[in-house]
Amino acid sequence: MNKDIGLSEATLGLAEQTAVLEVVKSGWLTQGDTVKKFEESFASQHGFKYSCAVSSCTAGLHMALVAAGVKAGDEVLIPSLSFVAAANTVVQCGAVPVFMDIASLRSPHVSLAQANDKVTEKTRAVMIVDYAGYLVKTQPWRDFADQHGISLIDDTAHAAGAAQHSNLADFCTYSFFGNKNMTTAEGGMVCTNDEQQQEILQRIRSHGMTTSTLDRKRGHAYSYDVERLGFNYRMDELRAAMGLVQLQHVSGWNATRRELSQRYRELIDESQLPLMVPFELDESAACHLQPVVLPESSNRQLIMQYMREQGIQTSIHYPPIHQFSFYKRSYPAANLSTTESYCERELTLPLHPGITKADVSTVIRNLDDALKQST
Ligand SMILES: *Cc1c(COP(=O)(O)O)cnc(C)c1O
Repeated sequence: MNKDIGLSEATLGLAEQTAVLEVVKSGWLTQGDTVKKFEESFASQHGFKYSCAVSSCTAGLHMALVAAGVKAGDEVLIPSLSFVAAANTVVQCGAVPVFMDIASLRSPHVSLAQANDKVTEKTRAVMIVDYAGYLVKTQPWRDFADQHGISLIDDTAHAAGAAQHSNLADFCTYSFFGNKNMTTAEGGMVCTNDEQQQEILQRIRSHGMTTSTLDRKRGHAYSYDVERLGFNYRMDELRAAMGLVQLQHVSGWNATRRELSQRYRELIDESQLPLMVPFELDESAACHLQPVVLPESSNRQLIMQYMREQGIQTSIHYPPIHQFSFYKRSYPAANLSTTESYCERELTLPLHPGITKADVSTVIRNLDDALKQST
């Protein structure tokens, strides 16, 4: 029996423990100076002017949609090959999610041709996703958004640590959930280069209020006004302290992820496994996931079960959003055949900085056996 190889695990050390403890000792737990420091460090490391720390990426997506002016009756173009938060947040705004297909099995980013097909007078925003940590080239999407006078939201939940200096989206939304490239347990960040949007984000993060609790404690303000609707989507100091530690490591961890992905690709080639590996690997990739596309004839469930019995966890990214009961019932979507065949055949292999190249060999050896047994 091998040692268990998990799909994605957080790397946590003494520094995170100490950082959280320091916050507890300080006595100030909610959004304050540590959050501010985390925002500034995150923005500068990722090449954005501004960052707004939030309680989750889902909260960040919701805020980005609201800041983009998405209202009841509007349409928002979104991927179906993504996490369900992409669609849920659109529906929370009272808007209609319009699903776009992916470009191809080898390049499963959303297709610009689909966006052009599906954009209407009612479209208010378009959301793209850096699926698996492979960065979307944003210039054509910027041109598309400008041409139609709509906002561009890049769901960068998979891409923490990847420098985004050439990202042209109006908003980028990061996730620090426990299985992402860096974590604060729960948490997220909305990044923008637009000062006015940053001010709006900061307001709607905290009930639409014009001053913060800390401002008032310090005597910088005595009351507040509410000029627009908002939420409580704040991050706390404990999470920000953890985030500051993780932020120092995330680029290095991503480099390890790239090496492991490279190893997967080499071994799949050398062993002539009948698998397709999406995307070209380059230095910009955050390699959040290691997806492979199985042969059409293979039984994915049997393969996953076999791998599980060998102590190897695999997963599926994602069940397509448009096929969930709620979405099938309320927002029937047509013309997503590439997404559907990708999602039927996709398998996600373990990838995180806690595994070694030897573990990658173990995964591939067992996958070879599983494929032989399942076809
Ligand atoms: C994880 C994830 C989210 C949601 O992130 P939370 O921080 O858990 O809200 C959104 N989009 C994608 C693509 C994700 O992978």
